[in-house]
Amino acid sequence: MIPYGRQDISQADIDRVVEVLKGDFLTQGPMVPKFEAAVAAGSQVNHAVAVNSATSALHIACLALGVGPGDYVWTSPNSFVASSNCALYCGAKVDFVDIDKDTYNISVEALEFKLIQAEKQGTIPKVVIPVHFAGQAPEMDKIHNLSKKYGFKIIEDASHAIGASYKGKPVGNCEYSDITIFSFHPVKIITTGEGGMALTNDEKIYATLYRLRSHGITRDVNQMVNLPHGPWYYEQIELGFNYRMTDIQAALGYSQYQRLNEFVSKRHQIANTYFELFKNKPVILPKQMPDSYSSFHLFVLQLKLEELESSQTQIFERFRNSGILVNLHYIPIYRQPYYSKMGFKIEDFPNMEEYYSRALSIPMYPGLTNDQLKEIVLRLTTPIGHQTLF
Ligand SMILES: *Cc1c(COP(=O)(O)O)cnc(C)c1O
Repeated sequence: MIPYGRQDISQADIDRVVEVLKGDFLTQGPMVPKFEAAVAAGSQVNHAVAVNSATSALHIACLALGVGPGDYVWTSPNSFVASSNCALYCGAKVDFVDIDKDTYNISVEALEFKLIQAEKQGTIPKVVIPVHFAGQAPEMDKIHNLSKKYGFKIIEDASHAIGASYKGKPVGNCEYSDITIFSFHPVKIITTGEGGMALTNDEKIYATLYRLRSHGITRDVNQMVNLPHGPWYYEQIELGFNYRMTDIQAALGYSQYQRLNEFVSKRHQIANTYFELFKNKPVILPKQMPDSYSSFHLFVLQLKLEELESSQTQIFERFRNSGILVNLHYIPIYRQPYYSKMGFKIEDFPNMEEYYSRALSIPMYPGLTNDQLKEIVLRLTTPIGHQTLF
């Protein structure tokens, strides 16, 4: 069986976790700040706040930017539902912007068009959440320019993209955004089991994210309303959550982070093999933009179904029946029943619909062998039983 994504856990990772288990702190010990400092330094950003999932990070990021009832938040429909659920948690309204045909990221042209309409109607979003689909950065410079012109904030959902870079600088540096989010779910580039991180250069946003992670509580005298009653004193100054990451998770994350570059270059090797082996096959390969270095979280094919003389479902089942667990990223969020009842119209997203009708995610993770890659490529056109490599 070949899954579409898989973690890579080393003995060093295990040793780091065991050290924590044998130590004094399972949570709120030294490993969380150590992991945060490492990721902040590697991402060339001032602050990082580790939390128990990217979903939690997106939620407190929206809150830290003041998202609330009456506000609009826009994102890409080609994402996991967490990218838009975060706005709904805050009582805001969600809308989607169609994707770019080549990168499958949010389309800057569609975004600009939609902003012009919104300005007339007085519905400019408070926050736009571009998603780094498959690990490739969207056109962040242009989105940033639009944010200045129209007055919205930006959260980069870089759940796929730790280890990626854009215009020669690491994704996560927040040069073009207020906050960037990473995910450490096991299928992502590095893992903590479950986990996420929010990065920012803004001191105030950082202080808010930090408080919201843990109940809205502060121990910083400068943030307090009253004078401390004594050395035991802390204050809850807003309504936060328990979104903390454990030291057990942070130890795994810190250890995994040491191998980030190794993981991403292995993913590039696999991508290069796919690019080579799928040349002249009836598929469209994922276009790589010149100013972007992807982390290749996913490898998505667009099937030329006419040439393949098969349906998307038939190809999907052919792979799955031969133990290759392909997937589809993503079902357009506006098609989810919970969202479609909000009144979204499929016709408003022609590029997303076209993409969804022939996309297929094939396996992509560092542990894939060359034989497995050949098997995967063979299976696109050859049903199991006709010819096997082994
Ligand atoms: C995985 C993912 C999330 C959610 O991450 P969790 O850590 O599982 O909460 C959010 N957005 C995108 C684009 C993702 O791929």
